[in-house]
Order: sequence, then structure tokens, then C-alpha cells
Amino acid sequence: MPTSLRKQLREPPNLADWAAARASFSWDDARRHLDGLPDGRGLNLAWEAVGRHAGSTAASRVALRWLGKRGDRRDLTYAELWRSVGRFANVLGHLGVQPGERVYTLLGRVPELYVSALGALAARAVYCPLFSAFGPEPTRQRLALGDARVLVTTPALYERKVAPYRDSLPGLRHVLLVGGDAPQRTLSWDSTMTAASDRFVVPPTQPEDFALLHFTSGTTGAPKGAMHVHDAAVMHHTTGRLVLDLRPGDVYWCTADPGWVTGTSYGILAPLTNGVTTIVDEGDLDVERWYDLLQRERVNVWYTAPTAIRMLMRSGAEPVRARDLGALRFLASVGEPLNPEAVVWSQEAFGMPFHDNWWQTETGGILIANYASMDVRPGSMGRPLPGVEAGIVRRTEAGVEVVTAPGERGELAIRAGWPSMFRGYLGQAERYAQCFADGWYLSGDLATRDADGYFWFVGRADDVIKSAGHLIGPFEVESALLEHPAVVEAGVIGKPDPLALEIVKAFVALRPGFEPSDDLARELVGFARKRLGPAVAPREIAFLPELPRTRSGKILRRLLKARELGLPEGDTSTLETGAG
Ligand code: ATP
Ligand code: MG
Repeated sequence: MPTSLRKQLREPPNLADWAAARASFSWDDARRHLDGLPDGRGLNLAWEAVGRHAGSTAASRVALRWLGKRGDRRDLTYAELWRSVGRFANVLGHLGVQPGERVYTLLGRVPELYVSALGALAARAVYCPLFSAFGPEPTRQRLALGDARVLVTTPALYERKVAPYRDSLPGLRHVLLVGGDAPQRTLSWDSTMTAASDRFVVPPTQPEDFALLHFTSGTTGAPKGAMHVHDAAVMHHTTGRLVLDLRPGDVYWCTADPGWVTGTSYGILAPLTNGVTTIVDEGDLDVERWYDLLQRERVNVWYTAPTAIRMLMRSGAEPVRARDLGALRFLASVGEPLNPEAVVWSQEAFGMPFHDNWWQTETGGILIANYASMDVRPGSMGRPLPGVEAGIVRRTEAGVEVVTAPGERGELAIRAGWPSMFRGYLGQAERYAQCFADGWYLSGDLATRDADGYFWFVGRADDVIKSAGHLIGPFEVESALLEHPAVVEAGVIGKPDPLALEIVKAFVALRPGFEPSDDLARELVGFARKRLGPAVAPREIAFLPELPRTRSGKILRRLLKARELGLPEGDTSTLETGAG
């Protein structure tokens, strides 16, 4: 069936009219989509995600579909998932874990991670995920910073990444191991779970109770621990419904690892609060396998990241056309700027664009988005969520000044007070306070807003290049370079220069079949000049086999810069190519 016809037959999106929804939106109305704990006992994330569905007609719907690395698969219905969650919450109770104490996971994408996360929330402990590919030191730092009480991991990960320094963490009282034997000072997940009852009553939970601890990606420096509360459920549900257009019963796939905030907010909480079937894929990115998965599981909504999309683009549109992806209804992307090239490509390949959206670990949920009902402006992050006021501001001595002229650059700021706003940086009260001025949360990202209210990402404040009186965002330069057929990835930095203050330098990775050469470098400079003009185009090009990235896949410009300047590389604990 042609895409246009398929689209006509579909119901209108949940957010059919952005302007109308914005005009009538209130957080109180949004809250009414949740149930709250029975008997007015408050609001609990695990209850909203699973518990309430387990006692409804959705009980037998698949909540979690796990696709193992070796081709095995396991379905957990909402009712089954809730029983496991209850068991784990009871385990925590037997272990004496108190409300507010931290329960960590260091696990790959396995069902036990999801049960631990939700069980910790149900028990009013605080859940903190650690990315399983972290090496021992980043793992230790984060366990220590958050004063972990319980860790759920595997025997192999424990031996390599935790056992060597366990004595330095007296607060870490219990380690539960999934699969295999439990050596001394650890417990077996299987036997503790089997011994516990699956009947659990969620204790009274206040919306402001501390629920989640998420470390930032560490793109610009040492990672910070952002603290989130149970009230974030309102945001997870609302953005799942209005931005990702989730409908009960949809099949949804978020490719982000649950070791990061996207994989938790949008791999667990937003989909489950919306009653969808969420796919958990244990394997790593593989273009053919990913497309097979989309086809076989009849995925309706797919949420992924630019770094993955760039990988897919390398293989062209053929593998997409060779499959029946007729169930796909909505594609979304987050984590880094989505280059216009990627939007144009997806329109060609899938017959629909990737919808970019913007948020941060600190914001706990999507704040700016391209919605299903809106025309995508390639390269734009979209417009603010109903209920959210976004602005462009400049910091002044006294506070901030709001920039109203369309197209002017400034810092992206959000009026404080949306439900999933972080409530602190763990142990860094002053740093938290510095994020706010005159009632605005200051994001540290630079952006512009056009006359129609679309926001455009310029760069992180730390990455912006000042060259001969111009302020240049690396993203616009990288996007222009990506339009050249030889370029698959580009990272752009400011290189100190005695005359211009900084000059624009680009690091590029080439598509297979292209070789680095001075001629190609000159050609790329010329190509960029035509698009960007001489003031903004790179003056220098260097070729790299691949760009350094954070473990969550973001281009690490600070590292390119440190290497360029021969400086120490700083905190590299989140580096993709670091010790793992
Ligand atoms: P750290 O704060 O430790 O340096 P980080 O900012 O990369 O790391 P995250 O909270 O995971 O940690 O990432 C949020 C940031 O990612 C945003 O502030 C922004 O710079 C970037 N980002 C996310 N989504 C988008 C998007 N759609 N377009 C452009 N940038 C985005
Ligand atoms: Mg950040």
C-alpha cells in the first residue's frame, strides 16, 4: 500500500493541533491521565507504569518484549511484570533498604534490569542505572557519589568492575548477581527472588519523593548526578502521548540503553505509563538486524539517536525498501542535533521523517519537539511541549535578559516548574542554584527561535566557536560537511588563533571508498565555503578513521580540542574508546 494511502487511513495523532493543545493545556489535566495510588496514597512511578495496568483490562497485554542476543525471546505481560516487580520490592524490604536509599543496576539490556528499576521505585528506593560498558573507575565513582546501598549486576561484571574496590564502599551492603553462582558477600538474584512473595502493596509515596538518580553523559566534563522525583511520571506519560504519539497496545522501540536517562525515561517509564508493548533488544546496532526487527515485530513507533541514524544512512535506502515496514507510524530522534540531511534521507527511505526532539538529563523528559501533526523543518528541534515555556536568553549581571528577535542567538532556557525538572545535582547544591535565574532554567545550550516559534540548535555554550567576531555553532558546519558525499561524520572545534581568536577546524570521517588527501581537504573547504560563506566554513580539515564519542554515542568535541592543543584529555570516563 502506498505510504500516502496508509497515512490517510490512520487516526489523527494524539496531538492533532499544537496551537490548540497549547492554549488549553494544564498540568492538572495531564495528571488526570494517571491513576495515583489507590486510596489517595500519592503518586508512584512504578504504579503508574505497571501496577495500575496489571489490575486492568491491559493485564494480559505484553509490557516488555525481550529479544536476546542469541535469538531467544521472552514476553512479560503487565500482570507478569508487576508480580516480578513486587517480588523485587519485597526483596529490598527483606534486605532492610529504606525509602530514598539508592539501588543501582550494572546490567546489559536484560529483563532483570527492568524488574530492578521498577521494583526499586515501587519500594520507594531511588533507582540509578549504570551503563554496563563502563570500566571499573567510572563505575566506582558513580557508586560512591550516590552512596549505593544495593547493586544488581552479573558475576562477570562484578568480578571485573566492582569486587576489586568493594571494601572502599562500606555503604554498598548488598550485591545481587543475575545468573551463575554467587561468591562470598553476594546474593543470587534467582534464589532471593524465588524466596520472596510476589504480593506487594506500594507504600504511600509523595510526588516529591526522590525516585531516580541519573548521571549526565559527561560530554562537557565530569558527569553530574541529576535527582528526579516520582512526579516525573506526569511528564513521562504526557510526552509519551503527545510527542511520541503512543497509543495503548502500540509496539514501541527505544534503542537507547537503559544505562542512560533516555533508556529509562523513554525505554521504561514513558512507554509503560502509556500501556504500550516496549521492545528490549539485547543486541548491538547492526543495520540489517535492526531493520529485520522493525519488520518482524511490527514496530509502530521508533525512538533512536542521530549516531545510529548516521550509521543507517551509510547503508542507503535499499535495505529499508527491501522490507515491509508498513506498521511504522512515527520516527523520533534525540541526544544530539539531527542534521537536516538525516531528515531528508529518512523521508526518502521510510516515507516519513525522523522527528527531532530536545531534552537533557536535567529536564527528565522531552521539552521541545517536532510533533506528528506538524511539518518538520529539517534541522529544527521543533516547538515547546504544551505546558512548557521555552525562551532564548542572555545572562546579565542581574539575572537574564530575554531575547525576542527571531533568529538571534542566546542560551536556551525553560521556565522552571515542569513536573520532571531535576530537583538537584547530588552533592552540588551551588551548581544546581547556578542553573537558575529569574525563574528560568538555563540549559547551557545555545539556540535560536524563528518567527514561527521553532527552535534551532546552535551548539553547547562550551563548544561555540568565536572567530573574527562571529559566533559559530559547530552543528551548522558539521551539517554542511555531511552533505558532501565523501563525509559520514564530522566534528568541528575552534582552534586558537592569534588573529581571529579561533579558527574553525573540522575533523571528518570518510565514507568507505574515499581516501584522505590534500585535494579532498581542499575540496571540502570549498564545498563548505559555498554553503556557509568564508567566515563560517572550516579553515582546516583533518581526517580521522572515526570520531571520539561518549559511550552514549555523542561526538566528544572537547576531546578533539584537547588533542588539538596537546592538553590532558580531562575526564575520559565516558569515552567510547576508553578502557571498558
Ligand atoms: P554533560 O552534561 O555531562 O556534559 P550531556 O549534556 O551530553 O553531558 P545529556 O543530558 O545526556 O548529557 O545530554 C543532553 C544534551 O544533549 C543537551 O544539552 C544537548 O546539548 C544535546 N542534545 C540532546 N538532544 C538534542 C537535540 N535534539 N538537538 C541538539 N542537541 C541535543
Ligand atoms: Mg549536559
